[in-house]
Amino acid sequence: MKKDITRDWKQFIPVYFFGSIVVFISWAAWFSQSISLLDAVVLIICGFLSWSFVEYCLHRFIFHYDAKSELGKKFVYYQHLQHHEYPRQLDRLFAKLSTSTPVSALYLLVAYSLLGSWASAGCLYIGLVIGYFLYEFLHYQAHHMSPKLGILRYLKKYHLLHHHSRSNLRYGVTSPLLDILFGTYAPLPVKSVLTNKLNPVASKVARKVENQVDRLVEQVSESTTRVTKATEAIAEKASSTLLPKSAKTSST
Ligand SMILES: [Zn+2]
Ligand SMILES: [Zn+2]
Repeated sequence: MKKDITRDWKQFIPVYFFGSIVVFISWAAWFSQSISLLDAVVLIICGFLSWSFVEYCLHRFIFHYDAKSELGKKFVYYQHLQHHEYPRQLDRLFAKLSTSTPVSALYLLVAYSLLGSWASAGCLYIGLVIGYFLYEFLHYQAHHMSPKLGILRYLKKYHLLHHHSRSNLRYGVTSPLLDILFGTYAPLPVKSVLTNKLNPVASKVARKVENQVDRLVEQVSESTTRVTKATEAIAEKASSTLLPKSAKTSST
């Protein structure tokens, strides 16, 4: 049965949490009168633009970190790789509050140390949170929606290829710009670009087919993960029950 995200209030906890912080910072900056409206708007835009950088660095260098220790592997799995295994599950899709809170607090501290003013740092932070909310929306739509708008379809396809083609490419979710800058960009396959150039009716049909294929690919990927994990669990159980017997045989 299709899950309705709007009925699951827990998925919106980060929105309430960061939304409340943004309201508080806006209120404090407004009443402190230590920053002009123009400066505030410029800083909010800068904060918004800085989100792409934060998103790219977290995704590429933390969430896909090639950990060697067991603890490191568990951390990376919990933070992100479980989302690669089950891309459509909501509880594995959105960023964890346990990650976003320290990251955003660190961002605020760095912003304060650079700008020397809580009001200015707060405005930068507001822009960052707006960028983060946009990211969560775009990430959700990539796995659960069938957008009609060209840019949304492009970003959806771009992110799904990070999942199902090569996970060491296309780290950007809100934009491919940093992938281009840091050498992890790869263009979309020609077929998804071609659908834009057909006549409107054919284009609509092609879009529907493409969305269904994308959904099917995700479902197959999740099913493959489940089968692999079940097979591994059975093999582990079999070896643990058979091992004492064989050990007994070898001793007689
Ligand atoms: Zn994803
Ligand atoms: Zn990833």
